[in-house]
Amino acid sequence: MFRLPGLHEGEKCSMLGPAVTSHNSQLIRLDTNSPAEGSRRLLFGLDAVSLTARMVEEGEPAWRGRQLAEAIYRQRFTSLEEITTLPKQLRQRLAAEGWEVGRPRIVQVFQSVDGTERYLVQGQTEDRQTVETVWMPEGDDGETGDGSDLDTAEGTGKSWSRATICVSSQVGCAVNCQFCLTAKLGLQRNLSAGEIAGQVVAVFDRHGVEVGRDRVNLVFMGMGEPFLNYDNFMAAVRLLVEEVGLSPQRMTVSTSGIVPGIERFAEEPAEARPKLAISLNAPNDVVRSEIMPINRKWPIEAVVDAVRQVRLRTRERITFEYVLLGGVTDRPEHAAEVARLVRRTGLPAKVNLIAWNPGPGIAYTMPQPEAVEAFRRALAAEGVPVYLRRPRGRDIYAACGQLKRTVEDSA
Ligand code: SAH
Ligand code: SF4
Repeated sequence: MFRLPGLHEGEKCSMLGPAVTSHNSQLIRLDTNSPAEGSRRLLFGLDAVSLTARMVEEGEPAWRGRQLAEAIYRQRFTSLEEITTLPKQLRQRLAAEGWEVGRPRIVQVFQSVDGTERYLVQGQTEDRQTVETVWMPEGDDGETGDGSDLDTAEGTGKSWSRATICVSSQVGCAVNCQFCLTAKLGLQRNLSAGEIAGQVVAVFDRHGVEVGRDRVNLVFMGMGEPFLNYDNFMAAVRLLVEEVGLSPQRMTVSTSGIVPGIERFAEEPAEARPKLAISLNAPNDVVRSEIMPINRKWPIEAVVDAVRQVRLRTRERITFEYVLLGGVTDRPEHAAEVARLVRRTGLPAKVNLIAWNPGPGIAYTMPQPEAVEAFRRALAAEGVPVYLRRPRGRDIYAACGQLKRTVEDSA
């Protein structure tokens, strides 16, 4: 079948300019909390061990499981018919038993003038609920944050030399940070491991990413709080590392400071876990409790104590994300306080500044560019490594904290 490069069956491509007007046609029901699999029998989301067990149950040799894993995670086949390494009879038998690949699909694409793309990805439920994933060619400087990742696309035949994918972990979020659009959705449901890893594989497919050659960073900073969906989130990381072949050192997970989640994370083997980012966002507990009510449960010191339990790899640093809210968290005295706070933790750390991205119904203001620059300089002068995150895809509501827009518009 002929396919337009990067476009898959049933996928629409929306070329949207700076003024996004309508996001029509996406029927989304937000009234379900059902488990991802429903009545379907899905292969995508199972690791090689489970796929092997499946094959053995079918009376097949164990190595068929590895073949199947290879086909869905490396060759990225999305239907059983395509997996010609398996005998036809076996494929037909699996299909007759109700098995399908069931990889999440990109169902809508929004393209920004800056090259960023935002996707609505249909998960594995039958309720047509979508999640959002963002592709940022050349990243947003929030990964290594120090420009060390810069490279050229020369000789690769690609328009990008490195890219960052921002991945969602839940539909909506229960944490209720006052400045975040996703919070307005409340928590709709957790994503399964297959739905989290599937966002990455679907985007890889769209952009022809070659694992092992292309430089792609993953940030688990889309919709949702990964540490409130811990098991599925870490199972997705394992799928991405073991089956897809990605390095966990190129992944960063961001948490609002869910202490029990950080404590579990600290138990993970260092070579198998992503890097850790903490959404600090305020210079002290008073301001933080105001803008992040979760701080009343787990204040800054409790979060930092938990972070101290994480054994860091050589040269690894903890990232503190800091959203600058005009007049609320962006004043010079705040910068001095943040510098003291970060130094007091004794952790090898860096600060990632993010100018607040506005959204409807949220009564904060964007920081003045001069305030952002002064804040950055003040931290640098105190010897704190600090990087400014470039806003990406603002015109398509793809920037940090804006991942809610279409869900609301199309419901
Ligand atoms: N729930 C996790 C990860 C997703 S949010 C967390 O909170 O860490 C990813 C980052 O976006 C967080 O650092 C958050 O503070 C930031 N963010 C949320 N809303 C934002 C907005 N409107 N503008 C800029 N950054 C925002
Ligand atoms: Fe949830 Fe993160 Fe948004 Fe807070 S900032 S509401 S934790 S997605």
